[in-house]
Amino acid sequence: MHRIVIVGGGAGGLELATRLGDKLGKSKRAHITLVDRCPTHVWKPLLHEVAAGSLDAHAHQIEYAAQAHWHHFEFVRGEMVGLERASQFLRLAPMFDTEGDKEEILPARSIGYDTLVLALGSQTHFLGVPGAQSNAIPLDTLAQAERLRRRLLQTCVKKAARNVSGTQSAVHVAIIGGGATGVELSAELRKTEKAFRQFGLHGFGRDSDIHVTLLEAGPRILPALSTRVAETTTELLKKMGIEVSVADPVTEIGRHDVTTESGRIIPADVIIWAAGIKAPDVLASLDGIAVNRINQVKVSRSLQSETDPNVFAFGDCASCSWKEDSMVPPRAQAAHQQAAFLAKALRARVERRRLGDFIYTDHGSLVSLGSLSAVGSLMGGVVGRNILVEGRVAKVMYAALYRKHLVSVSGFRRTLVDLVVHGLRRAAMPQVKLH
Ligand SMILES: Cc1cc2nc3c(=O)[nH]c(=O)nc-3n(C[C@H](O)[C@H](O)[C@H](O)COP(=O)(O)OP(=O)(O)OC[C@H]3O[C@@H](n4cnc5c(N)ncnc54)[C@H](O)[C@@H]3O)c2cc1C
Repeated sequence: MHRIVIVGGGAGGLELATRLGDKLGKSKRAHITLVDRCPTHVWKPLLHEVAAGSLDAHAHQIEYAAQAHWHHFEFVRGEMVGLERASQFLRLAPMFDTEGDKEEILPARSIGYDTLVLALGSQTHFLGVPGAQSNAIPLDTLAQAERLRRRLLQTCVKKAARNVSGTQSAVHVAIIGGGATGVELSAELRKTEKAFRQFGLHGFGRDSDIHVTLLEAGPRILPALSTRVAETTTELLKKMGIEVSVADPVTEIGRHDVTTESGRIIPADVIIWAAGIKAPDVLASLDGIAVNRINQVKVSRSLQSETDPNVFAFGDCASCSWKEDSMVPPRAQAAHQQAAFLAKALRARVERRRLGDFIYTDHGSLVSLGSLSAVGSLMGGVVGRNILVEGRVAKVMYAALYRKHLVSVSGFRRTLVDLVVHGLRRAAMPQVKLH
């Protein structure tokens, strides 16, 4: 049987494994294996909500082992650390217990493949800014989102407890990077502040405050979206009391402050880095696989590596040309479209038919601004021209994107059950996690 190994069960990889399992795995026309270093999947665009405490990640995880059982593929837990291209083997690192005596749970292993699909996503790029890696928290993984949430909560509790006189000083949060992640997180923190006040968390009362500064190096926030969306969003953020600083790159990050090119020093109790991404370093170490300067695998229109036709790559970890002068953007929307394309192309490969070319369609972008609002633009394919959407309608559309992802991996029935269960849970719980 043809062996297809997919590395990375994120927004793109899990959908592809599910589709291929249902089509090829079930009928035993190919053996599908999904490899991931984590045991569960969380849709990455939810991480800013996890960090702000407004979403309980445990309730939104998909267990790879169960998904594999239901959709006729095999799940292997492990971290890819190398590739032997000549003999077509993937190398996985040994796995250790992260607590207690750090005992080895799984040894180093190799997995053979006929077709390898790399879907490793991206990680934070600190862009060489001094102090960024050691003092700022990135937002790439569930563990980082949880770390950020705990740090914010502890800082609020500490500050509130130290102030007995009633003149409480604000908790300062600096978010570096005015892209979608930075914008969404800054807006979400307003909701966190409101909930902390409402429940009087350890003395965090009416006069307590989370002061958020959003810092962008470029001339405006949301550089990947239209000027109109960026201007509207800036106005909305300012109305929410968020300080927006543009055209002033961050030059250094200390333990409790951020310095910018203009010489400004911004005090910060919590510093978040959301300014740049690169593909995982392991990709640059794979012998004979061509990558670009941010480690993305260079792929052709069929999403095959430019240097090895048995290796495919897609999602954030791949560099695929789109229009004449631009590349497919690192978005969940692109990973989803590429997963759908590859599900067909890999079936064609198993049946020795032509693969075809991937064509990216930009449906526009939406940026969430808290629980009741979003802003963004819808593009050509949907409405014939680029239009601005905002407010509750945009928020409903934004929420629908996650549901669409769930439908593509869990089916309609499970998604509906999930929707009802979470709706009921939300009605009975505080809107923000308080511990
Ligand atoms: C806070 C935040 C908000 C976002 N909001 C949006 C949004 O609103 N709209 C949008 O379109 N996009 C958004 N994005 C971007 C979007 O999440 C990514 O473009 C998308 O997840 C990319 O999908 P992927 O499958 O390429 O990678 P990912 O979803 O990142 O998945 C990669 C997988 O690979 C696994 N992995 C990594 N390295 C290894 C290894 N060495 N061995 C084994 N497994 C490995 C990881 O555990 C992970 O499961 C957001 C991103 C963030 C961080």
